[in-house]
Amino acid sequence: MKKEATDQVLFKALFEQATEGILIVTEAGKILLANAAARAMFGYEIPELEGQSIEILIPTDLRRAHARHREQFRSDPHPRSMGLGLNLHGQRKDGSVFPVEISLSPFDDGAGGQLTIAFVIDITVREQLAQQRANIAVELEKEKELGALKSRFVNIASHEFRTPLATILSSAGLINSYADRSDFENVKRHTARIKNSVNHLQNILQEFLSLGKIEDGKVEPKIEAINLPELLHEIEEDLKPILKKGQKITCQHAGETIAQTDRNLLRIIAINLISNAIKYSPEDSPIEVECRAAAGKIEIVVRDRGIGISENDQRKLFERFFRASNSGSTTGTGLGLYIVKRYAELLGGSVAFSSQVGEGSEFRVWLVG
Ligand code: ADP
Repeated sequence: MKKEATDQVLFKALFEQATEGILIVTEAGKILLANAAARAMFGYEIPELEGQSIEILIPTDLRRAHARHREQFRSDPHPRSMGLGLNLHGQRKDGSVFPVEISLSPFDDGAGGQLTIAFVIDITVREQLAQQRANIAVELEKEKELGALKSRFVNIASHEFRTPLATILSSAGLINSYADRSDFENVKRHTARIKNSVNHLQNILQEFLSLGKIEDGKVEPKIEAINLPELLHEIEEDLKPILKKGQKITCQHAGETIAQTDRNLLRIIAINLISNAIKYSPEDSPIEVECRAAAGKIEIVVRDRGIGISENDQRKLFERFFRASNSGSTTGTGLGLYIVKRYAELLGGSVAFSSQVGEGSEFRVWLVG
């Protein structure tokens, strides 16, 4: 066989047998040749592509922009791989769109003109695999986080349950012996201690339950008309028993009396913030609560002159189970502020704070109301 004929056979084999789509395109953007892989990829038969504008292979909404890019490429032709960092897509004859990677190489046609050879790869499967890998990574990350949360939960639960359970056990034993001696004063005192401990355990369980409901997306606010000063007064009364010696709460309300919000969620938000102010400030210190309602917004401010929160701890304050390094032996689960934040968001609002170690803290909640 003549060398020229051999070259032609070889070129044809290379062109037609290639698994990459290959297109040869004129300066005017017309397809001169398309190999079998390119036809199969874009869903065309043998004579259908030749002579067509290259833009028929581009998603309809991107054709104009592509024509502009092609003009730019024509004025400065150079080999380039177009897949890198670009999100390219091709469009099949049936209109469906698929992701592609393309590289372009300009060359002389030997008669003073210039042609471009485009290599096209369908990367649908590669992208699906990358997506699957990314999904697995996200799942793994979630599993890890769940594992860490579970161990924090077990730690906090066992730590926080130990003291009240020990109190209940010892008081129950003492009640027996005081009752034998008919010492009813002490029987009453230990019954009260048992009641307190059970209340405390109930509060902890309530927080765990709230967390579970939040995570399952099962908290649905019930919006109703609320009398704000009344609710505030109720909360103040409920919290009086946990005030330390000499601590005093001052509650101030300004603006509209009635607001539209979820009574229970608002109550839990305020109770968490005020009970923190009580827990993390010393005896004889004041706690200020301000509530303002106007123009469809409720703002609640809780201010204390307590131990404050270090800058380092401030960054993690709203994380589940997080307790600041200076929380010491004060009881708590590290869930209160997380619940406050999530409930505030459910009520169309947000929460912010400022705090200085040794000076005190101020928490501010805004709600739609
Ligand atoms: P906890 O049940 O531990 O009180 P929270 O989620 O309510 O959990 O608060 C998280 C942590 O933030 C607390 O453990 C405490 O270290 C810190 N904190 C919250 N409120 C205050 C406050 N008013 N003053 C100082 N530290 C606070």
